[in-house]
Amino acid sequence: METIQTLTRTFEFSEYISILEISYILASVLFILGLKKLSHPDTARSGNLWAAAGMGLAILFTILFHKTKIEDGTTVYYDGIHNVGWIVGALIIGTVVGWLAAKRVKMTAMPQMVSLFNGMGGACAALISLMEFPKMQNELAMHQSLTMVNGETLAILLGLMIGGVSFAGSMIAFGKLDERIGDVKNPVLRYINLSFLVILLAFVVFIMFKTPVAGENWMIYTLAALALVYGVTFVLPIGGADMPVVISLLNSFTGVAAAMGGFLYNNQAMLTGGILVGSSGTILTMLMCKAMNRSLLNVIIGAFGGSSAAGPEAGDKTVKEISLSDAAVLLSYSQKVLVVPGYGLAVAQAQHLCHELENLLASKGVELKYGIHPVAGRMPGHMNVLLAEADVAYEKLQEMEDANNEMNNTDVVIVIGANDVVNPAAEEDPSSPIYGMPVIKVWEAKNTIIMKRSMAKGYAAIENNLFYMPKSRMLFGDAKATMQKLLSEIKNL
Ligand code: NDP
Repeated sequence: METIQTLTRTFEFSEYISILEISYILASVLFILGLKKLSHPDTARSGNLWAAAGMGLAILFTILFHKTKIEDGTTVYYDGIHNVGWIVGALIIGTVVGWLAAKRVKMTAMPQMVSLFNGMGGACAALISLMEFPKMQNELAMHQSLTMVNGETLAILLGLMIGGVSFAGSMIAFGKLDERIGDVKNPVLRYINLSFLVILLAFVVFIMFKTPVAGENWMIYTLAALALVYGVTFVLPIGGADMPVVISLLNSFTGVAAAMGGFLYNNQAMLTGGILVGSSGTILTMLMCKAMNRSLLNVIIGAFGGSSAAGPEAGDKTVKEISLSDAAVLLSYSQKVLVVPGYGLAVAQAQHLCHELENLLASKGVELKYGIHPVAGRMPGHMNVLLAEADVAYEKLQEMEDANNEMNNTDVVIVIGANDVVNPAAEEDPSSPIYGMPVIKVWEAKNTIIMKRSMAKGYAAIENNLFYMPKSRMLFGDAKATMQKLLSEIKNL
């Protein structure tokens, strides 16, 4: 009788498991397709929805179909998820807070939000480990195991370590981007950092080889505290301008920490999601470093950004200005115009007016394109997102190499709120901190108009010789207000 009952239940269990596994595979497929769609501005919005649908599916099916096999003496039964009310409550609160935050955030504050959300992911992974370690240790102690050397313990400890570093590091990155925390540039910190890393790893090994004692949890809390402190000291000395790279790196950490949870729970959706976040974060980090012509180690040790790094000083050099009417005439009688946008375009929110200028010039037979530097702005793809928001056609965007190849034939370049990404020091001055970084060579065009508010430096905090070059002329003022006036001038011609 009992065998029949057990068999029946075994059948139900495997049925539940296969439904759950199929839903996880489906969720993983949705993540991958979503990620693929994210690579083009036209499909990015739906890509985000596809990936979110995958996550929603995995959560819903876990709540409905997850069963744990319980062996209680001679009886075997399968227990579903408990505390569903709490889970749904937390989901609702998380969804509302996340939705409101994403709706309200300004485009310029997007990197901060990404950092905050990434930190939450790291915290989740660390909390999972904090909950699972005591359970696993008690079980090993019950079986009188001599050490805790097994895959599960390793996944738990790495999840806690990486998740904790990612959480604390992301919070510091958030503080820096939001200008609440300044740079702490003390070379001693590098050594403190390195020692913390060694201690952290040594502690993981120590826990693994320790004899498990039921209820003895001091070491898991110590590991959590060490990971949090390391997260803080790791990010604190890195320059503000390098925060997007750091966030991308921390994002990949969070992915790896989540993948550890996937191993632990044998959850394919968590595993695939974690691996995708981990690998895409790593690729993005490498691409950003390549675009800045710097190694990851150089970014982490900190070379420039918010510092008073050296560069050619203005001295008694003078800049030439251009009037709005002259700029309007120059643009209207050109054939090829290139807009090079930068962080200032995002600050001024002048992207819609740029698109208007493009249409206005097109009606006069002037072709306007946009030259996009991979690290213009403050986050990867910043300019692409801004211009897509203003309905600029993707075909109008030129990559840096293409823009540079056509520079000699370009009549006018308008640099809007860009500075570091058009700095000739990257090509000409071996002593410059940005030497070797590929830049858009706007000085090779026939005319260069630079729109900015003042002679202030860019994020790398270095002088820009472009402003003093023979073909350069400054159009001072807020990019949006100046663009508005420029449009009226062109219309009145
Ligand atoms: P920069 O930060 O070099 O320069 C922006 C310029 O915009 C400033 O000089 C500022 O001058 C001007 N500006 C600001 N507000 C306005 C406004 N309202 N109207 C007009 N102009 C304005 O930006 P870039 O985009 O050229 O370079 C990006 C920097 O960020 C690089 O150093 C890059 O390495 C770094 N970075 C970017 C990452 C990314 O993912 N995008 C990642 C890591 C680093 P003024 O105050 O005079 O107006």
